[in-house]
Amino acid sequence: MYIPGVTKVADLPNDVETKEHYKAEQKQRHQELMIRKYKRLRDGAVDPVDRQRYNARVKDWSAKHEEFLKDHPYLRKNPKRLAPEYTGNVELSFNTGYIANNMKLGVGENKYKEGEIVHIDWPDRNKYPIHDSKDIEKMYIFAEEHGFSLRHIEGYRGDYESIKESLNVAKSVLDYFPEMGNKPIVLRLGNKMKSADFALTETNGTIFLNADAFRDRFTLAKEYSAAVDDKKFVENTTFTGILCHELGHRFALLHPEIDYLSLAKDVVNDINLDYNGDVIDFVFENLSQYSASFDDGREIISECFSGYFGGSGNLFALKYIEKLVKIL
Ligand SMILES: [Zn+2]
Repeated sequence: MYIPGVTKVADLPNDVETKEHYKAEQKQRHQELMIRKYKRLRDGAVDPVDRQRYNARVKDWSAKHEEFLKDHPYLRKNPKRLAPEYTGNVELSFNTGYIANNMKLGVGENKYKEGEIVHIDWPDRNKYPIHDSKDIEKMYIFAEEHGFSLRHIEGYRGDYESIKESLNVAKSVLDYFPEMGNKPIVLRLGNKMKSADFALTETNGTIFLNADAFRDRFTLAKEYSAAVDDKKFVENTTFTGILCHELGHRFALLHPEIDYLSLAKDVVNDINLDYNGDVIDFVFENLSQYSASFDDGREIISECFSGYFGGSGNLFALKYIEKLVKIL
């Protein structure tokens, strides 16, 4: 889960012009991605009607792209990036720290907005006392034993159960991918996060759990399963999948060399050889709606982590993790 807008873009250059250029470049990358995508779909289409339809999309996006380049003459053109077979790493938002800022800026086409939860009323923080220093100390140690470096919980009002349960499951992820636990993972409780965002991973790898959401284990469990009922998250997962999900993003930050979208395509082929639709549509139906949030597939690995380590039995998640382990 990520929060466009909430996370400050403090680690981007401050200079307004640089920021503008950065955003324009991101937009350019996205347009190139869409052009390649529809070229590939067009070239692979068997049905002439499909072929025509995809070709129209290629033309639309190309026209839009040309226009954009005219308006932004400082952007560098590279015709290679428009070739359907181009697999430059820029395609994925996780690939470099810089491009990963994408996740914060919310660049990318969000296809399935209508399924989005807009607001959740979490319990009032003032109803919960601050923990005493002994408890706080114990909580720090508990996190440390599970591979996490918890930060600044002195002022946190809420129960520890939701966090402890999450850490217990997260530990199994770190056991599975030991290199992920080489250094303790910084974990923080975020205040003032958007109510419907359960957690987020910063590009520097810090994971934030939404303090409002984790304050009360019962409410968190209830709200999460309501989202599962809406097919937003992977079937049969519980709220402990939230931290697993974020660890999926962390994994992607750790391994920028992997093409996570191609991996998803391989899984689709494995599951359904005859499927020739869009991989994003496939995960929407077969993994979770949230996993289809972005055309670049950035939420697929995280939802697979949630599904697999959350013990959902989801076939897509299982195959995805299997393939991931093989290419490591
Ligand atoms: Zn996510």
